[in-house]
Amino acid sequence: MGQRRDLIVIGGGPAGAAAGMTAARAGLDVLLIDKAAFPREKLCGGGFTGRSRRHMAEIFGRDVTPDLFLPCNRFRLVAGARTVAEMADAPTIWLTMRREFDAMLLAAAEEAGCAMATGVRIASFDPDGGRISLTTGEEVSAPLVIGADGAASMVARRLFGRAHDPAQVGFGMEVEVPREGALPTDAVEIDLAAADWGYGWSFPKAGSITLGVGGIHRRNPQMPATLDRFLCRQGEDGASLRPRGAFLPFGEVRPVAGKGTTLLAGDAAGLVDPITGEGIAWAMKSGQLAAQAAAEALADRRPDRALPRYQRALAPIRAELRHARALRWLFYQPLLQPAFLRLLAGEPRLQRRYLALLSGEADYADLGWRALPRLAARIAGRTFQAGA
Ligand SMILES: Cc1cc2nc3c(=O)[nH]c(=O)nc-3n(C[C@H](O)[C@H](O)[C@H](O)COP(=O)(O)OP(=O)(O)OC[C@H]3O[C@@H](n4cnc5c(N)ncnc54)[C@H](O)[C@@H]3O)c2cc1C
Repeated sequence: MGQRRDLIVIGGGPAGAAAGMTAARAGLDVLLIDKAAFPREKLCGGGFTGRSRRHMAEIFGRDVTPDLFLPCNRFRLVAGARTVAEMADAPTIWLTMRREFDAMLLAAAEEAGCAMATGVRIASFDPDGGRISLTTGEEVSAPLVIGADGAASMVARRLFGRAHDPAQVGFGMEVEVPREGALPTDAVEIDLAAADWGYGWSFPKAGSITLGVGGIHRRNPQMPATLDRFLCRQGEDGASLRPRGAFLPFGEVRPVAGKGTTLLAGDAAGLVDPITGEGIAWAMKSGQLAAQAAAEALADRRPDRALPRYQRALAPIRAELRHARALRWLFYQPLLQPAFLRLLAGEPRLQRRYLALLSGEADYADLGWRALPRLAARIAGRTFQAGA
C-alpha cells in the first residue's frame, strides 16, 4: 500500500517550495517530489521584483542577499535602435540565477520539515485516489495533491488533457553570456520591438548577462530567428552561444486551478503576468495559498473543500492578471504600439507608472479599471493623429 502522507506536492520550483514550506509549518506530513535533483537549471530571466521579495519574506522569512541577488536601479526601455525611456533611479529589480535561488527555497522548505524526494520520476499519478507510483517502484498517496510542476505540467495534463492552450501559450528563448563581474553602468533593458506580442530582455547578473526574447508563441513561430536578430543587435554571435527555449503561460490563467482533490499552483495554474511574463512572485504566493487551503480542509476532515477554498483565495491574483490581460493589447497590438511608445517617451509620469508595474512596486489594480479606457483613448488619439 506504500507511504501515506497528508499532502503531496509535485514540483520543487518556487510554487512547490512555497507549498512544501507552508504545509510543513502548518504541521502537515508533506512530501515534495521533483524529477530533478537540485540544484537544477531552470530557463528564466531571473528578474526578481519587489512583489517577489515581499512574497519570499512572508513565506520563507528570507530577504534578498548579495550572494544570490544583484540589485539594479538602472532601466532602459527601447524599441530596436530607439531609446524610449531611460532612468538611473528606477525602482529596484534584483537579478538572480534560478539554479541557486530555487535550491535555496527548497532547502528552506526541507529545513521547515517538508520531506523531499528529488531526482525521482513519477511513473503514474491517479488523481482520484491521490496515488502516485514512482519509477523506483515505491507507492505514495495522500488525500490532497498540489501540482506545482511548471508550464508543461504533467498534473494538469492528467486532469485536463493538456497543460496549456497552444493558441494562448507564450514561448521564450535565452542565452547566458558569460562576463567578468557586474558594472555600475549595468541596466535592465527591455526591447519592445524584439518580438511580436512580447519583448526582448537584457538582464545583467554577477557573472553573466541573460539575453532573451519571448512572446505569444503563435505570433512568433520563428523564435530562434527572432533571438538571432536580437543577439545581433546586442553585438553577440548567436552561433557561439547555446540558446534554450521554454513555454510559459503568458496570460492563460486556468478558470479553475485544479480538480477534485488536486490543486494547481504557479505555472501549472497559468499564473504568469501577461504583459511582463513575471511568474516567480505568483508561483510562491499561489503555492502558499494552496497549502493553506489544504491545511484548513484537512483540519475540517473535508479534503473536498480544499479546492473551493483555494479558488476563493486566488481571486485577487486572478483579478490582477485579468486586469493585465485587458491592458496587454495597448502595449503589444502592432497598430497601437507605436502610439503607445510615443506617449510613453514624452511622459515621465507614465514611465514611472510603467516601471512601478514592471518592478512589482505597484499592482494593476492600483491603476483602477478607469485607467484602461483613458489610456486607450489617448493612444487611439495619437494613432489617429499619426495616420491623418
Ligand atoms: C524564458 C523565460 C524567462 C522568464 N523570466 C522570468 C523573470 O525574469 N522573472 C519572473 O518572475 N518570471 C520569469 N519567467 C517565469 C518563471 O520562470 C515561472 O513563472 C516560474 O518558474 C514558475 O514557477 P513554478 O514553481 O510554477 O514552476 P517551475 O519553476 O517551472 O518548477 C517546476 C518544477 O517541477 C518539476 N517537474 C516538472 N515536471 C515534473 C514531473 N512530471 N514530476 C516531478 N517534477 C516535475 C521541475 O523539475 C521543476 O523543478 C520566465 C519564464 C521563461 C520561460
